[in-house]
Amino acid sequence: MKMDLESADLVERAKMGEVTKEDALHLVRNTSLLFKIADELRSEAVGDIVTYIINCNVNFTNLCVGDCTFCAFKKERGYVLSMEQILQKVEDAIARGATEICIQGGLLKGATLDFYCEMLKYIKSHFDVHLHAFSPMEVFHAAENSNVDVQDALKALKRSGLDSMPGTAAEILDDDIRKKICPNKISTAQWIDIIATAHRMGIPTTATIMYGHIETLEHWVDHLLLIRGIQKKTKGFTEFIPLSFMSKNNGLGKIARGPTSVDSLKMHALSRILLYPYIRNVQASWVKLGRQLARETLFCGVNDLGGTLMEEHITRSAGGVEGEYMSPEEFEEIITSAGRVPRRRTTLYAFTE
Ligand code: SF4
Repeated sequence: MKMDLESADLVERAKMGEVTKEDALHLVRNTSLLFKIADELRSEAVGDIVTYIINCNVNFTNLCVGDCTFCAFKKERGYVLSMEQILQKVEDAIARGATEICIQGGLLKGATLDFYCEMLKYIKSHFDVHLHAFSPMEVFHAAENSNVDVQDALKALKRSGLDSMPGTAAEILDDDIRKKICPNKISTAQWIDIIATAHRMGIPTTATIMYGHIETLEHWVDHLLLIRGIQKKTKGFTEFIPLSFMSKNNGLGKIARGPTSVDSLKMHALSRILLYPYIRNVQASWVKLGRQLARETLFCGVNDLGGTLMEEHITRSAGGVEGEYMSPEEFEEIITSAGRVPRRRTTLYAFTE
């Protein structure tokens, strides 16, 4: 591709991790350059290796006091898993090779910090497995119900066996948007505070964005720059995961249809470029995008396809049709068919084979 001077300059800035908001907004209008730079930076960051993890999602309850307009998971008459049921799921997952158990659920009315800690302790007392658990919103909920601050809550969770946290509940880190789509969720400042506190305490987290609803391109860029700013200070993010809005069975879906495939490719490419070189791993969620589009993202900056996710209910409730499980063989097939090298990884990106 022939480049003008302005574009060549932009490539240089991208390699130095100095892409600005103006650059980013310019780039999304020039998709071939956007995808080309994202692919080049992916190659510089990780080469041809594409990772995935054998993991399991435990959604321990779908009861929730929240009222997010994009949610299709919460139910009025829902379930709460018993500790024995949770343990059974963990045992089955480990028997199938899982190295990570991801635990998230609705905001159960009155659930105290003890409730969350006991869950971690109970699993850890039976299995030596990585527990990737509780979003910043859940940590806030637990702390609030127990009248402790988030730092003390995180300390107690860590002591109980918390190894890392999902950086979910980020949605769009802009309070005007949050007021419209999740009015009772923690604010942008609270999300940042909980994440940065976790990082300072040695609890790594992922970072996410939920895109493709009422937000604008500027919100994407601001969100990514905010994540880049946190990572420069804490180095606590393991990866960035764009999550496409699923429009079925929720209120927000009546006014927003979800992103197009091209929107999704742009989102992943922009993530790679704006977060480079501070965040090494950009993950595509096959559960949300579908296998085919997830494969396409490998040419737009992505180097990780997430997990096998045995049992995932949140995306399915909102219209996801990709199923709850993708086998390691399918991961390997998708990755090799894209001309890349598959590697299985741990939560913290050590290769396991
Ligand atoms: S997204 Fe989470 S916090 Fe919001 S209503 Fe659904 S389960 Fe509750």
